[in-house]
Amino acid sequence: MRPISDLDWRGRAEPRPDLVISRAAVLDPRAGIDDVLDVVVRGGEVAELAPPGTGEAEGAEVIDAEGKHVFPAFFDPHVHLRTPGGEDAEDVETGSRAAAAGGYCGILAMANTIPPVDTAADISALRERAAAEASVPVGFLATLTRGMAGEELTEMADLSDAGAVGFSDDGLPVRDANVLRRALSYQRLAGLQIALHEEDPDLSGKGVMHEGPVSAVLGLEGIPAVSESTMIARDAALAAYEGARIHVQHLSARESVDVVAAAKAAGVAISCEATPHHLTLTDEEVRTLDARFKMNPPLRAEADRQALVEGLRAGTVDCIATDHAPHPPQRKEVPFEEAAMGVTGLETAFAVIHTDLVLPGVLDLGLVVERMSAGATAFGFAPPTLAPGSAANLVLFDPEPEWEAGADGWESRSANSCFDGRRLRGRVLMTVAAGGVAYRQRSFALGVAT
Ligand SMILES: [Zn+2]
Ligand SMILES: [Zn+2]
Repeated sequence: MRPISDLDWRGRAEPRPDLVISRAAVLDPRAGIDDVLDVVVRGGEVAELAPPGTGEAEGAEVIDAEGKHVFPAFFDPHVHLRTPGGEDAEDVETGSRAAAAGGYCGILAMANTIPPVDTAADISALRERAAAEASVPVGFLATLTRGMAGEELTEMADLSDAGAVGFSDDGLPVRDANVLRRALSYQRLAGLQIALHEEDPDLSGKGVMHEGPVSAVLGLEGIPAVSESTMIARDAALAAYEGARIHVQHLSARESVDVVAAAKAAGVAISCEATPHHLTLTDEEVRTLDARFKMNPPLRAEADRQALVEGLRAGTVDCIATDHAPHPPQRKEVPFEEAAMGVTGLETAFAVIHTDLVLPGVLDLGLVVERMSAGATAFGFAPPTLAPGSAANLVLFDPEPEWEAGADGWESRSANSCFDGRRLRGRVLMTVAAGGVAYRQRSFALGVAT
C-alpha cells in the first residue's frame, strides 16, 4: 500500500516543527494503542509514545493535552472539490482547508466537475493545483467514462500513469452493465479502484427524496431503496465474474447493507462507505422542506439508518465518508424540488458521529476512529497510524466543548451543511497531516500563543 504522503499537497517542502503533545488519551485501535501518553513528533514522524510527562524534543512546542484525545487523523475517500468549473462552491484550497478543520489528513476528490476529469492532462493540472494550494494531501479520481456519458471508457492506463487514484462517474451511475463489465476487465491493467454511485436511473426517475410514508404525505416523488440495492447486486455480480474489485459509495438503504454483506460472504472484493448524515438522520428531516436535507442518495427511514449503523459495527460498511458536496446559495435557497442535491460534511463529520452515536453509547469510540480512516485502504493507501516511526498524521480532539455548527462560519466556501445550527459535542483542535500542522482551531491557537 502507498503512503498518504504520496498524494499532492503544499506542505511537502515545508519544514515540520517538532511537537510534544503531553498527557493525551492516545487511541489507535489498528495499532493496539489505548493509553495516556506523550506523543512526540520529530521531523514529521511520530518519534516516540512516552509515559505521560516524560516526552521531550529540543525546541519543540509542548501542548498540554490532558483530558483530550489523540487519534490517527481521518481519511475521506469521497469529496467534491468542484474544480474546475464550480469554484463559486469550492476549490482545492477551500475544500482541503475544510478537510484539515475536520481532522482529515487526506481526501480523494471526485471527477464530476465541469468539464469532468477524464484526461491525463486534467489529472496533471489538478495535481499541480494541489501541490500549490492544498492544506492536506489530496488525490484525484478520473471518470470511468468519457465526459461521464456512460458510453466509452476513459484511457484508464494513461490516467493511472498520470497519477489518478481511482475511477468513478460519481454523480451518476454506470447505467450500461456492459460498459462497467469492460471497465472491470481493464482494472487488471490500470490497477486502480473503481468507485460506484449505485442507482437505477429508471427506478429513481424524477425522485427528490426517499420513497416512503413521508414522501407520500408531502406529495413528493420518491427514490425507492431498491433503486440502490438492485444496482449494487448487479455490480457485485459483475465484479465477481470479472475477478475485479469495486467500492460502493454512500450506502443508504437497509437492502443495500444486506446485498453487500451477501457479496462479502461470497468472497466478492467489495468495500463500501456510509456518510455521517445517513448514519444519523432520516427522511423525517425532509418534512421541513429545507433543501439542506436534500442529497442523493436521500435520507431514508429509521430502519435504514439503523441498518447502516449495524453494518458499520459489523464491518459490512468499511468506512465513513462524507460525500462533501458544496453548492452555492442560489442552488439551495430555492423550493425543495428544484434544489441541487448534496450537502457539505468535512467540518462536522467526526463531531456529529461523536455526539449522536458515540456519546449515547451506540458505537464504540475506537470503532468510529478506525472507520474514519479506513477509506484509505479501499484505494490502496496505508491508513494513518500513531505507531512510532510512522509519518505524523494525527488529530487532537477535545471531547468536552459544545459548539454550534456553522456559528463561526465555515472553512468550506459553501454553507449547505445539514448540521448547520446544530449543537455538537467535541471539537477538533489541531490536525497534523503528513508531518505538518495543517489546522489549529481558533480558540486553541489563541491558547497556545499565551
Ligand atoms: Zn454519488
Ligand atoms: Zn459524491
